[in-house]
Amino acid sequence: MIQERMRQVRERMDVSCKKGSRDPSDVVLIAVSKTKPVEMLMEAYQAGARDFGENKVQELVEKSDVLPKDIRWHMIGHLQRNKVKYLIGRVWMIHSVDSLRLAEEISREAVKKQTTVNILIEVNVAREESKFGVMAEDAENLIREISVLPGVYVKGLMTIAPYVEDAEKNRKYFACLKQLAVDIERKNIDNVSMNFLSMGMTADYWVAVEEGASFVRVGTGIFGERDYGA
Ligand SMILES: *Cc1c(COP(=O)(O)O)cnc(C)c1O
Repeated sequence: MIQERMRQVRERMDVSCKKGSRDPSDVVLIAVSKTKPVEMLMEAYQAGARDFGENKVQELVEKSDVLPKDIRWHMIGHLQRNKVKYLIGRVWMIHSVDSLRLAEEISREAVKKQTTVNILIEVNVAREESKFGVMAEDAENLIREISVLPGVYVKGLMTIAPYVEDAEKNRKYFACLKQLAVDIERKNIDNVSMNFLSMGMTADYWVAVEEGASFVRVGTGIFGERDYGA
């Protein structure tokens, strides 16, 4: 089941790569495995998944302890500063940095552990009240402030688009994130690159790929509906 769903998602990504003149090797499928048991992650692993996304620190830590070591773990959820220390050294990329204080904490822990951490800046392109993320017009300033911190490297941008039935409605937000990345890249800020765009979920990942996504974060489309319990 998981294998078949992954095949379908990959197929749809390939179609979008053709449409958007993208090289398929530039687009990585992140299997968003939050709330799912390790057995299901293992099934996805056996079907070729090597990038997994989680939104809770404890869950990421527990799963990464028992699953194969060649998995790249992505922290995609809102992150509290007091939990940063558990992630450093485990996580391949943190997608959800939207404040200087959080970046400072990541930097401190990275230096302490003598390592470096790659991060993306979460941007609230749709300006939704309920969402985390920096406003587009504030992104450059935040990135400039983070760029001087030791041990932490800004590698691109991430957005969580609104929930929509019609994926086409989010195309403008994906294009907006891409344009913002192009604009920031042009500023040539030291230690900053805009190589990665994390955008697109089950409801709209194929549109995001057409608009330039380098990571799509697909949960339900691979693992089925989530049960958050009572
Ligand atoms: C849960 C989650 C996803 C995956 O959502 P689906 O709709 O199940 O694909 C993607 N990104 C983030 C940040 C999430 O929290």
